[in-house]
Amino acid sequence: TKYVLITGGVVSGLGKGVTASSVGVVLKACGLRVTCIKIDPYLNTDAGTMSPFEHGEVFVLDDGGEVDLDLGNYERFIDVTLTRDNNITTGKIYQSVIEKERKGDYLGKTVQVIPHVTDEIKQWIQSVSSVPVDGQTRPADVCVIELGGTVGDIESMPFIEALRQLSFSLGKENFCLIHVSLVPVLGVVGEQKTKPTQHSVRELRALGLTPDLLACRSAQPLIGSVKEKLSQFCHVPVENILNIHDVPNLWHVPLILRNQKAHEAIIKQLNLAGSAGQPELR
Ligand code: ADP
Repeated sequence: TKYVLITGGVVSGLGKGVTASSVGVVLKACGLRVTCIKIDPYLNTDAGTMSPFEHGEVFVLDDGGEVDLDLGNYERFIDVTLTRDNNITTGKIYQSVIEKERKGDYLGKTVQVIPHVTDEIKQWIQSVSSVPVDGQTRPADVCVIELGGTVGDIESMPFIEALRQLSFSLGKENFCLIHVSLVPVLGVVGEQKTKPTQHSVRELRALGLTPDLLACRSAQPLIGSVKEKLSQFCHVPVENILNIHDVPNLWHVPLILRNQKAHEAIIKQLNLAGSAGQPELR
């Protein structure tokens, strides 16, 4: 299984969930088998105890797992049946580490965030990504991982570190990072501003992660020179800069990605050309 990690920068609520689901749709349309993981860096064990007024719907999975609403998006977009383990929270990770500590599994060691919590995260990701979610028996070709929150948040640091280690050990051909960012338009000049994206990419790099693709959210489609600028200053090839502008209907987002050849960029990065075709999306 190869991994596509979706991170977000600048502000929350950018549409990482919609981007992750839509990336899943275009990869699936190319003939690849896709699974998904959502990481929520909060301490609640699951979303079941969280107020829907604050957090949106609690999505209930077939196995009874009460999870983040993004998993509902994945199931609807990609047509898979996920399990409670496909939603990783800080609460679940700590619960598991503390249970192991009480059983004596760490053999007298001092139990620490690094390496014990980060190792638990890596093991969880690798074991759940190998579980087929589309009714077949072999593991999926690609696992899309969405990291909730914004890069740089204290809460998500152990996850970022675990994902950095994972990307390093798996190598570039097995790990593709898509950073979702915002390109706002300021004032009367109406210029599309690249600086917030530049800063959030810098923050990501400082944590040891390098974006392979950028998915820029904007109100209107990006103009060409803005893409060039982002490419130059964020060190991402211009063909890997995607633009997801506001749309009236979320089901258009996979088509936007296909029209920008997002699948080609991801398939090239993951060296999957042999097993993937052209997307069949209408
Ligand atoms: P995040 O996972 O980053 O918090 P979500 O995927 O939950 O963000 O999306 C936040 C909100 O933005 C949702 O209500 C979603 O419907 C909306 N949204 C996402 N992408 C777009 C888009 N391209 N056009 C219009 N609305 C969007």
